[in-house]
Amino acid sequence: MRIKKVLGFMFFTSIFAGCGLLPKDTNKEIVVTMPKIDENKIVKIKYLGAGGVIIKRGEDSVMSSPFFSNFSIPELAFPIKCRKKIVDKYYKELKDDTVSGIIVGHSHYDHLIDLPYIHEKYHKDCKIYGSTTTKNLLLSERKYKIDESLIVDVSTKMAEKDKIGEWIWIKENKIRIMAIKSSHSPHFAGLKFYSGMLEKPMNKEPSLASDWVEGQTIAYIIDFMEDEKPVYRIYYQDAASSFPFGIFPKIDNKNIDTAILCVGGYSEAENYPQYILNEIKPESVMIIH
Ligand SMILES: [Zn+2]
Repeated sequence: MRIKKVLGFMFFTSIFAGCGLLPKDTNKEIVVTMPKIDENKIVKIKYLGAGGVIIKRGEDSVMSSPFFSNFSIPELAFPIKCRKKIVDKYYKELKDDTVSGIIVGHSHYDHLIDLPYIHEKYHKDCKIYGSTTTKNLLLSERKYKIDESLIVDVSTKMAEKDKIGEWIWIKENKIRIMAIKSSHSPHFAGLKFYSGMLEKPMNKEPSLASDWVEGQTIAYIIDFMEDEKPVYRIYYQDAASSFPFGIFPKIDNKNIDTAILCVGGYSEAENYPQYILNEIKPESVMIIH
């Protein structure tokens, strides 16, 4: 009786072992093949405060206006200046020598006040792209003046809801941008501060927060290119907008891979960011400010 039970058990286990439910060799090494990742094709985004980011793909990268000199609300009642020590402390670690161009969405102090110093110290040969007001603020009288030829006014090349814009090459065959006419939401309770345009450079250094007027707010499409085709497309916006600003006609069949949108003031803008998301349908979204 006992022998029958043992034989029955052996038969039972041999059937399951044969079906593969029991491991044949528990010491066998398991080899998992991971797909090879080409580092040069990965897009990396570093955050630089307010509307600032460095977007990098391989050896190609573009920066939007960084901001490290945070000021308290009471400080804004007095003259303000770029805090160079703070900029150096944080920007040194984040700086990227492959930055080919700097885009500016609008000209409020928290988007522009640190840029002249960062340009002078870290990116002296880089071109800056922005509105007429951005250009005039950067050309205003100060110790370090950015060469006028390095500041590109994109106002006449902007796309609008029913108008296609003009591509601007930041790095030949590698990075191109298209400016899109956008808008800037009120700051709170329907109130917007420091709006307006600057028609010509100031003959003094902008020193009050109110000197840094908004100008035309601009969104951008940024394309990383390979063999004359866009391979990664970014939509960038540094202020919450209102319909129909920030949208543009269909350009081609390339989708938006990542949208960088502004969370600051979003509740002051109607249906933001839903109307933008419905229009551009990005694969992923990063929120800034
Ligand atoms: Zn602003």
